[in-house]
Parts: sequence; structure tokens; C-alpha cells
Amino acid sequence: MSESADILIIGGGLSGTMLAVQLLRLPGQRRISVIEPRAELGRGEAYSAVELGHTLNGNAARMSVDPDNPDDLTQWLTTHIAGGGWPESAEQAVPISELFPPRGLFGVYVQQRLAEARVAGAQQGSTVEHICAEVVDLQSDADSVQVSLNDGRRLRSTYAVLATGMFPAARTPQKESSGLNAAALDPWDVAAMRQLDPQSTVLIIGSGLTMVDAVVSLEQAGHRGPIEVFSRHGLLPHVRRQPPAWPDFLAEDHSIRTPRQLLRELRRQCRDAIAQGIDWQAPLDTVRAHIARLWSQATDVQRRQFVRHVRPWWESHHHRSAPLSAALVERLRSEGRLRIQAASFKGLEPHSGAGVSIRIRRRGEAATGVVHGAALINSSGIEYDWRRVARALPQQLLARGLVRPGPLALGIAAAVDGAVLDAEGQAGSRLFAMGPPLRGMWWESTAVTDVALQAKALAARLVG
Ligand SMILES: Cc1cc2nc3c(=O)[nH]c(=O)nc-3n(C[C@H](O)[C@H](O)[C@H](O)COP(=O)(O)OP(=O)(O)OC[C@H]3O[C@@H](n4cnc5c(N)ncnc54)[C@H](O)[C@@H]3O)c2cc1C
Repeated sequence: MSESADILIIGGGLSGTMLAVQLLRLPGQRRISVIEPRAELGRGEAYSAVELGHTLNGNAARMSVDPDNPDDLTQWLTTHIAGGGWPESAEQAVPISELFPPRGLFGVYVQQRLAEARVAGAQQGSTVEHICAEVVDLQSDADSVQVSLNDGRRLRSTYAVLATGMFPAARTPQKESSGLNAAALDPWDVAAMRQLDPQSTVLIIGSGLTMVDAVVSLEQAGHRGPIEVFSRHGLLPHVRRQPPAWPDFLAEDHSIRTPRQLLRELRRQCRDAIAQGIDWQAPLDTVRAHIARLWSQATDVQRRQFVRHVRPWWESHHHRSAPLSAALVERLRSEGRLRIQAASFKGLEPHSGAGVSIRIRRRGEAATGVVHGAALINSSGIEYDWRRVARALPQQLLARGLVRPGPLALGIAAAVDGAVLDAEGQAGSRLFAMGPPLRGMWWESTAVTDVALQAKALAARLVG
């Protein structure tokens, strides 16, 4: 067992990297290790994107990683573009703050902020080491945390932080869930899509932002055939516009606590906005800042009501699509090439020959049917229930009683400061979590702005 670090960060996507950046910026000397199997820090799944068409879903003005400087990304982009980077941005006649950068470029921005923080941290003797491995087990006692890596190494530290991000869903009621992912194409793998017959039919499960990315990938790969999209509600993400400011009605009215009250008031505000000729996205966007408070105050019954009745609409109205991607989807729909159907996926169907067959049940129909395509793309989202994640670390943490499922089994439970709760509901002093694993605690715990704020607060907590 090697004494490796003061703070071990498990996962080097945006969350783990921004935590390291915030720790490096704080006074004092500390050794930080980020354990991440990917070759580069700061990217994770989202910012490993290589296609220019796979963009952020918010403009630069909304995607700063520095909670103290909302213009941080805009300023970085201004310098980057002035230096000859991202020449394609010139095709969009909008100010830099309104550009939707490619996610791969956003990864470069995150990495540059890490590099700068490393230099600043080095002046006081702080270091960040990237350990390229996966954590497969973790134990904790009163004095330290010990982790085991998939290459056999074992490390010890004073604190550990779970920044393990999101796990892809294999949404199927059947046992062969892994079969679905094995049969499906990666939504971002343009090279694999180039192997398809361009005129063939492609099936997509799920109609959220990952589906939009998959359609961008298919277009990029030269696919020109039909695209059949199936999702339970058949709802598409709305396009993100730049709405003007709107009064923060939830800050003024704390009597709104339940999902029903929220929806009623939000609808009223949207109607008022539309009557004044203002975009309905303006009132909706004021809700974001209050979601964590509303969710954490709610009872489990109210949370369940929200998930069952409001979630699909929240997802499609709030998690909106970048304008260029949305325009592509709209064009393909108007050409009749892309069809979105409200239908649930029931499983893979055995068949002989090429392609893939799936069983679906269309909304409102009792009988199921089989649909055949040349390829299948699974864009059905994220598995937040750690009990269903077939990965070593989540399974070991649950088996050892070091974590317990969060509200509604969304991620894991933690105290307000991020200290993870064990199976008995006790917050320890060594193990913390941030980002998507805290979905059940805050509902929105995934986007760039959520992660940036959590990183700053958790760094202060760990150092304090
Ligand atoms: C395709 C995609 C696009 C997105 N686009 C946007 C967007 O436009 N705007 C926005 O605000 N948000 C977006 N998001 C949300 C996004 O999740 C967050 O912005 C951010 O990536 C979350 O960072 P993270 O580090 O918590 O998770 P991740 O990026 O998932 O990183 C977690 C990392 O942990 C590592 N890891 C997991 N388990 C272990 C282990 N046991 N040991 C060691 N390492 C481990 C993984 O390898 C991974 O690199 C997007 C997400 C996805 C998937």
C-alpha cells in the first residue's frame, strides 16, 4: 500500500478535474491524485467528442467553469479564436458569447484551466498526478481511505471523492440488458456509421439530446436513409434560444413547494410572457436556480410525482438543443426522413440475416410489434440507480455498506457538504461525492454549471 495523496479524486471528467483546479487555487500545500482510465483529464464522455457538430447544449455565456466569472469561457474562446482556433465559428454571425462550442473544444478549455491551476498550485508546493487506472474497490476507516486499482496497485489517502460521473443506461426490462448495448452503435461513433449502407434504415431508442447527437453523427457519416426514433413519450428537446431576463418569481414566492404548485405557477408565468410577446423560455430559465432547493425540500411522494408526470416535459423543455443540431433534426423531419414515435422498447428480437430487430409497444396500444433496421442506436440515457450499474466500484461500495442509494434510488445519498452517507445513513469524514452521483440529492447535478459550483464548495470543505 503506497501513501499516495492527501486527496484522491476518483474520476477525471469535468467534475474531478474542476475539483482539482479549485483545490490547486486554494492556499496551502497538498498532493492530489486523480484516478481516471482515460488518457486525458478533463474530458470524460461528454468532452471527448471529436466531431465539430457535437456541441454544448448551451452557449458560451452559460458554460463557464468558473463560478466567480460567468464570462470565463467567452473570454477563453475570444483568445482562442483570435489565435486562429475554431475557424468554423466565423460561419455563425453571432457574438462569441452566443456561440455553442464543440464539446471537444470545451475539453481543451477545461484542460487549459487545469494547466494554469497546476502552475499556480506548484508555487505553493501543491501537485496533481493523473493515475491512469480504474478504481475497483474502496475501504475507509477513521484515519484514511484505501483504494484498489484494476492494475493491482493499492493507494491510501486522507480523503477520497467519487467523481465517477454517469453510467449509460441499458434500458430494457429484460435480462439481456448488455445485449442491447452490444447490438447498438455508439451514438458518437461516426466511423462505425460510415460502414452502413447510406440508404438503410437506422433505429434509435430515446429522443433526448443524445438522439440529437446521433442524428448529427449519421449526417456527418453520409447516411441519407430513414431514421426511426422510438421513445416513451415521443418528445423532442426544444431548441435553445436566447430569452431576455425575467423576474425571478420563485425567489419572491417561497410558498411554492410542490411539483403541482410549481407547474401551475410556471404555466401562468409562461402565459404572461407569451402575452407580452416574450419567449416562454425566459420564465422557465429562472426556475433552474431553485431546483436543488425545491427537490431537497420535497417529500419522496412529491419527487415521485415529479419524475412520473413532469420529468419528460422538464427534460424536453429545459435540456434544450443547440440551434444548428435542432435545425438538422427539423430539416430531416420535414423531409420525412426522420420519424419520432411514442413507443417503448421491449427488447431485442432474434432474427436471421443482417441488421437488428427490436420489439416495441406503441403508446396507447396493447400489442407489441417488431421493427427491423440496418442498425440500432441506444440513446436512452443514463442509469442513475447504482444497484443496476454493472461496474466494480459501485457494486463494491454498496456491498461494503459504504454508500446507500439516494432518494428514489437516484445515485447515492450524501450530506449537504457532499459527505457520502453509509448504509446506516451516517455521514463519514473521509468519503465525498460530487456531480451525477448526487442526482437524487439535488435532481440537477450534472450540467457544467452544477459541477462548477459543487467543485468550488467541495474544495473549500476538504481544505477547511
Ligand atoms: C454526451 C454528453 C454531452 C453532454 N453535454 C453537456 C452540455 O452540453 N452541457 C452541460 O452542461 N452538460 C452536458 N453534459 C453533462 C455532463 O455529464 C457534465 O457536463 C459533465 O461531463 C459531468 O462530468 P463528470 O466528471 O461528473 O462525469 P463524466 O464526464 O462522466 O466523467 C466521469 C469520469 O469518471 C471516470 N470513472 C468512472 N468510474 C471510475 C472508476 N471506478 N475509477 C476511475 N475513474 C472512473 C470515467 O472514466 C469518466 O471519465 C453532457 C453529458 C454527456 C454524456
